[in-house]
Amino acid sequence: APFPIALRGTVQKGFRRGGKDLGCPTANLSEEALHPLSAATTTGIYYGLAQVLPRGSVDTESNLSADDCKIYPMAMSLGWNPFYKNERLSAEVHIIHEYKNDFYGNEVRVLVLGYIRPELDYTSREALIDDIETDKKVAVRSLERPAYSRYFKDALFANEQ
Ligand code: ADP
Ligand code: MG
Repeated sequence: APFPIALRGTVQKGFRRGGKDLGCPTANLSEEALHPLSAATTTGIYYGLAQVLPRGSVDTESNLSADDCKIYPMAMSLGWNPFYKNERLSAEVHIIHEYKNDFYGNEVRVLVLGYIRPELDYTSREALIDDIETDKKVAVRSLERPAYSRYFKDALFANEQ
């Protein structure tokens, strides 16, 4: 298995559909963050860990609290980006934590640890939302396994305050 796969990127603006329409905001990763994924181009939903880094130095106003910058379970959708005629991958990460503010432009680190399921075509919004809820539970439950505890200490992540 190719896991873990480590990604570092900047959070990009998208069409704002995840949060508003589905109650599931996803941090869209920048293009250059996706190179380590080209080895594993099975599209679909993955789980793992993510950490958003604060902006600038400690004396600068930050949009995030210290709690927001901890490591949390995440569910990530990997697909072909229709905006680029399906020639480029796109990765969107839902982090399982309540953030008070948006964090566009912040750096994010993502450790991809496993595959949940392929992307499906949905005939109803409700069915899609149901599956997203299940994906979140799978991510949280998987990361509770003792075998995964060492990944919270992975060198990819910045030391928590
Ligand atoms: P976009 O199309 O711009 O990605 P979304 O509706 O998917 O819009 O919302 C994503 C944005 O919401 C992220 O870039 C981030 O700033 C913010 N956000 C707030 N909470 C979360 C969360 N738990 N996981 C991911 N992004 C979040
Ligand atoms: Mg998004």
